Amino acid sequence: MNICPLCNGLMEYTKYCPRCGEKMEIYDRVENYYDDYSPYLSYELTDLNDGDPSNICSHVCYCKNCGNQGIVSIKNIRE
Ligand SMILES: [Zn+2]
Ligand SMILES: [Zn+2]
Repeated sequence: MNICPLCNGLMEYTKYCPRCGEKMEIYDRVENYYDDYSPYLSYELTDLNDGDPSNICSHVCYCKNCGNQGIVSIKNIRE
């Protein structure tokens, strides 16, 4: 079974803001964070959009410094 290492607390993921270079906060998975898949979210931050989408867990990330917001795609690992 594949699990998301971030959802399961198995790893720390550090994302730096492409706009200002500050460390971004990684929040919950997109599915938990928004009621609907938010159409206004930018996809420019997606790191890993290759591979099987069912193997990808998308998390919301947010930069406190400049307010930039995006999605990071975490590749699931085998349990
Ligand atoms: Zn996850
Ligand atoms: Zn920023």
